[in-house]
Amino acid sequence: LAPLELTLVVAATARDMGIGANGGLPWTGLRKEMAYFARVTKRGDNNAVIMGRKTWDSIPPKFRPLRGRLNVVISRSFASGLPKDPAGGPDASPVEASSLEAALEYLRQKKTAMTSESGSGRVFVIGGAQIYAAALGLAETRRVLLTRVVSDFSCDTFFPLALGTTTEKTADVPKWVQRSRAEHAAWIGEELPEGTQTENGTEYEYQMWERV
Ligand code: NDP
Repeated sequence: LAPLELTLVVAATARDMGIGANGGLPWTGLRKEMAYFARVTKRGDNNAVIMGRKTWDSIPPKFRPLRGRLNVVISRSFASGLPKDPAGGPDASPVEASSLEAALEYLRQKKTAMTSESGSGRVFVIGGAQIYAAALGLAETRRVLLTRVVSDFSCDTFFPLALGTTTEKTADVPKWVQRSRAEHAAWIGEELPEGTQTENGTEYEYQMWERV
């Protein structure tokens, strides 16, 4: 079967890796940051985005499925076994998987079925905390594209790994290294703005971490 690697994409507060509040994002108005997320997850062909059912629910209906990417939603309420292809083309409805493992098995078979050229799609795990936690437990997870939100927000949902936070360090963190801006830009295939970005009064910075 085709090899498959996972890249997690997340925006989290620098202080405590906060990612969510009341079922939504803790911040508003990070327009350029959301555009970055869209470009990076769309670049190339046949990319997939995997998300938990609550993250799917948090996306306004008119924006979902996320366009130009195969959307895979994970819920225990979906039938177990291999997910089925969505009816009505790639942008019509999400693929429903009963576990992250089932989602990966489905994508592996799909990639194997494609030609080597079109089968080069990237697989992104886009949240939330429960699905990130499941992904961090898998050897396929190689990389985290982290938008480190320097401004602080009150959160009730947290990324389960402390990458470069100013507080707690976990035993797992030494297995993760932050890549340079040049390496990050090369991987995503676009130039990156230097240093801290400010949008709508919120400060943030684009980072890439890899498991070593
Ligand atoms: P998730 O999006 O991770 O979804 C959780 C749901 O996924 C569960 O209720 C369950 O669905 C399903 N699920 C979880 N684990 C499994 C499993 N092992 N097998 C099968 N299904 C499973 O929810 P969270 O609450 O963790 O995160 C949502 C929050 O995160 C929101 O506030 C959202 O805005 C935020 N977020 C922030 C991001 C950021 O970058 N800042 C990115 C993405 C989300 P069911 O109940 O249907 O069985």
